[in-house]
Amino acid sequence: GISRRGIRGNFVPPIKSNGSNTGNISSRMAGKCDDTLDESTKKCLEFLCGPDGELPEKLRNLEPRLIEHVSNEIMDKDPNVRWDDIAGLDHAKVCVTEMVIYPLQRPDIFMGCRSPGRGLLLFGPPGTGKTMIGKAIAGEAKATFFYISASSLTSKWIGEGEKLVRALFGVASCRQPAVIFVDEIDSLLSQRKSDGEHESSRRMKTQFLIEMEGFDGGNEQILLIGATNRPQELDEAARRRLTKRLYIPLPSSEARAWIARSLLEKDGLFKLSNEEMDIICNLTEGYSGSDMKNLVKDASMGPLREALRQGIEITKLKKEDMRPVNLQDFKNSLQEVRPSVSPNELGTYEQWNKQFGSLA
Ligand code: ADP
Repeated sequence: GISRRGIRGNFVPPIKSNGSNTGNISSRMAGKCDDTLDESTKKCLEFLCGPDGELPEKLRNLEPRLIEHVSNEIMDKDPNVRWDDIAGLDHAKVCVTEMVIYPLQRPDIFMGCRSPGRGLLLFGPPGTGKTMIGKAIAGEAKATFFYISASSLTSKWIGEGEKLVRALFGVASCRQPAVIFVDEIDSLLSQRKSDGEHESSRRMKTQFLIEMEGFDGGNEQILLIGATNRPQELDEAARRRLTKRLYIPLPSSEARAWIARSLLEKDGLFKLSNEEMDIICNLTEGYSGSDMKNLVKDASMGPLREALRQGIEITKLKKEDMRPVNLQDFKNSLQEVRPSVSPNELGTYEQWNKQFGSLA
């Protein structure tokens, strides 16, 4: 048999075996025959076959196009985020490393009493780095990363959500270790009662909880991470399965400075003094990480706008003549880019954290 997984779970192109035991995968899928599948779908299925050339149990009877969608759109082969890219959140990083990364790296040690939870909830205001943490976990643990937004499951996949959920967990189990990141998980596992709730979305929720039960406690190297800005919408069943619940707050003033500085440095536009940075930090109290990013983007337009105001034509503008971004650019942009989270909302997160958070 041929293993189609590399040492670290990376893709390894399948080698055509002499026995051509990968030749007609689709014939093993209910009601499908080879001719109905195009090349890309066939390739994708071949990658998922075991050493025996058979599609794993979990993936049989699922429509190839759903499996292909998971493999091509939801699976991210190179998450490309490292801990060092994430400003602040030191406590969350430490906690996640112990809880998730070490167990994925050393499953032999993390057994029995040490066996880790399989569900992690990251909650807090939008734009604070929850998605980045998910990607960094996958990157650091050399795991395959699956990203899905629950609201797309409920809107785009109406009627098929349940099957897509099965395909998602099925493909993940072929690609272990795996991290499944479900953004806006509240919209999938909300406690709101069923008025207007479609039968199909209820089935999807049930399927989702079943899949989670399935790998919890089992030998599978799969971690589910849910992210939400609305933790209070999660019901008891959802909370129970997401055993670790980490509050991801707004960035501290140091973290805000770090975000601004590193974005500008990347472009060679950073020339601010420490005093100017302090002023920017003081003026951006309450800004999220993504607010900071938007602010920097706008501020970095300052030198360009100024040159244009002076009548220089855009086609004649020399890049090397443009000045670095200065404090006044930031002050101007602060009028345009406002913080996206209200103090009121913060109170809600802190309260929920006290009641249900892991580090409260
Ligand atoms: P969330 O998932 O919490 O809504 P994201 O992780 O998608 O937020 O962050 C959105 C963007 O904001 C990131 O791509 C990054 O540019 C910036 N950002 C947010 N938080 C941080 C952080 N702690 N460190 C660095 N960049 C951040």
